Amino acid sequence: MGIILKNGKLLNEQGELSIKDLLIVENRIVKIESNIEAEADHEVVDLNGHFIAPGLVDVHVHFREPGFEAKETIETGAHAAVAGGYTTVACMPNTRPVIDRVETVEFVLHKAKQANLARVLPYAAITVRQLGVEHTDFAALQQAGAFALTDDGVGVQSTKMMVEAMQKAKALGMSVVAHCEDNDLLPPGAALHDGVTAAKHGLPGIPSASEAVHVGRDILLAEATGVHYHVCHISAKESVRLVRDGKHAGINVTTEVTPHHLLLCDEDIPDSLDPNWKMNPPLRSREDRDALIAGLKEGSIDIIATDHAPHTSEEKAKGLKRAPFGIVGLETAFPLLYTHLVEKGILTLAELVDKMATKPAELFGLPYGKVEVGAIADLAVFDLTTEKSINPDHFKSKGKNTPFAGWVCKGWTVLTMVDGKIVYNN
Ligand SMILES: [Zn+2]
Ligand SMILES: [Zn+2]
Repeated sequence: MGIILKNGKLLNEQGELSIKDLLIVENRIVKIESNIEAEADHEVVDLNGHFIAPGLVDVHVHFREPGFEAKETIETGAHAAVAGGYTTVACMPNTRPVIDRVETVEFVLHKAKQANLARVLPYAAITVRQLGVEHTDFAALQQAGAFALTDDGVGVQSTKMMVEAMQKAKALGMSVVAHCEDNDLLPPGAALHDGVTAAKHGLPGIPSASEAVHVGRDILLAEATGVHYHVCHISAKESVRLVRDGKHAGINVTTEVTPHHLLLCDEDIPDSLDPNWKMNPPLRSREDRDALIAGLKEGSIDIIATDHAPHTSEEKAKGLKRAPFGIVGLETAFPLLYTHLVEKGILTLAELVDKMATKPAELFGLPYGKVEVGAIADLAVFDLTTEKSINPDHFKSKGKNTPFAGWVCKGWTVLTMVDGKIVYNN
């Protein structure tokens, strides 16, 4: 019994690739050897020298169900995940209803089980309906299977609500994950970073301080409470500096960056102001982008997360001011980052895998993210040689909203395995 994955390339301790066979029995990797002889009851899959990575782990996706099924459902989102090599994703609670009650956590887990593709872990909201005035029942939500706590989509405006949330979360061993945005610093109608492109078009801008003020506040509160505090989608160089200082001071702060903030800046936004370039936080300056890359390399920024945020084409056709914030990311993250960070020598392949699979699992105590004997068989196989351009029409996601259409990349998913079962085979 079992599946043999033959002729896959694995990273060794030195970060070099070598051809190996893997034997998977039930949901575990039981053997990794140069040549595994197939027995009669083995299913054999030849990987033709493609790269075997641990299944990617994304702690920041929006699957829109319940409430916004025209944008995405848990099933289409999970399909997009495995098509991008992701085996575990954590979905944000800004649905309708908000994931702020046990029943809604259970609903998401039930839908994920039905889809039977990627592991989908629901976040629970910090505050009821994400309104920032009353805490949800953390203990009950944790009991029901909530992954961690966040009000992503909006910042927690009240310092009192945040510090009390951290105290309660700490007592339960839960992480507090924050969308950092101080509404007092947001000009009405701002859609772009307060920088060269907004100025050129005479538009109000979203200042970096609106993010960094919350990052700074919350790091101090994390120090006071001892909670694990994780900053969502870091975008400003000031925020990177604050996280770096916090880590140096021994505070339990971690952070994620998105592929789009690593690869794009506000100068890249076309003059058409296509709403597929509108996301929150916005694409910031070239300097900010350079600080994000440096922060990722040095470890101030721990992991990469997509902030996969599908919207319908109708919504995104409303023009820059009225279109909603957000772009999809699950099906393009690995090819984009492999092509534009690894092939250009900015990150090694081992570093990229660490930041997209191993570290995210580690930060949140998940037993995934490793290819080794005894590990759970969550795997992604990527083709590192074939070039193909990004075509949103081919996405499994309902969302086609991406600024990366037409970009030519390598690193496309060949096969994805979750818990020992092949769930995607291209
Ligand atoms: Zn957010
Ligand atoms: Zn988000």
